[in-house]
Amino acid sequence: QWIYLGGEFVRKQDAKISVYDHGFLYGDGVFEGIRVYDGNVFRLEEHLDRLYNSAKSIMLQIPHSKEEMQNLVIETLQRNELKNAYIRLVVSRGVGNLGLDPTSCAKPQVIIIAEELALFPKELYDSGLEIVTVATRRNRPDVLSPKVKSLNYLNNVLVKIEASLAGVSEALMLNDQGYVAEGSADNVFIVKGKELLTPPGYVGALEGITRNAIIEIAKELDYIVKEEPFTRHDVYVADEVFLTGTAAEVIAVIKVDGRVIGDGKPGVETKVLLEAFRERVVEEGVK
Ligand code: PLP
Repeated sequence: QWIYLGGEFVRKQDAKISVYDHGFLYGDGVFEGIRVYDGNVFRLEEHLDRLYNSAKSIMLQIPHSKEEMQNLVIETLQRNELKNAYIRLVVSRGVGNLGLDPTSCAKPQVIIIAEELALFPKELYDSGLEIVTVATRRNRPDVLSPKVKSLNYLNNVLVKIEASLAGVSEALMLNDQGYVAEGSADNVFIVKGKELLTPPGYVGALEGITRNAIIEIAKELDYIVKEEPFTRHDVYVADEVFLTGTAAEVIAVIKVDGRVIGDGKPGVETKVLLEAFRERVVEEGVK
């Protein structure tokens, strides 16, 4: 396996970073998770836009143009001869001294890892997920915007820990006002009839690439899509609930905090949207 690191491609066993890298010391950096379907990189441009916006927000200068980055992503795939893959693109502040001040970091570090895909088991799509809401809160948008996909993922890690303690594999985070924000690494939608609701960015949701694709597809299929704040109660009484994310795609939720959603099976509209999404991913993408 070849990994892009320090301006060159190195073998996995040689892909090591310094303990002085501020990405490691402080979570100072940004990242993306990107999916490749049959050699097509899904919405690479949108991922790169989000990466560069995240970097701009934390005053991190990425040492490549978007075009160069696009080529590096493609080259990583080609070198690893991967057709269906998950790509992790990381830009850290780079090596500095032990102080927080990023001016000691001379050069940001760009890392690209491409791996064979570890898909969720098919049964999970057939049965749907049981999830809970947890105590961990999404950070306030006026502190560090949830739109910044930074290397500070402690909230998200804590969500995962709380989920496993509750005996489930995923959970929802609320924001500081109690509105539902998102999952540990996925966005949430609720369905009422032909209406879809998903939390707006300002509630504390990352503007997921999959989320945006689903909004687009749903509108084309004549669903009414609203980006509106909602509470746990709205989730409990929804007809259907589903999560979206690069790894998960679209996955049904059938129980939340012990409340059965709908009839306790993945909903019809969720299935329609998953099918439409899967059709879409093979049609588009950067080769
Ligand atoms: N929310 C968070 C916090 C995430 O880390 C992710 C994953 O990237 C998502 C939502 C889903 O976004 P996307 O569809 O771009 O993968």
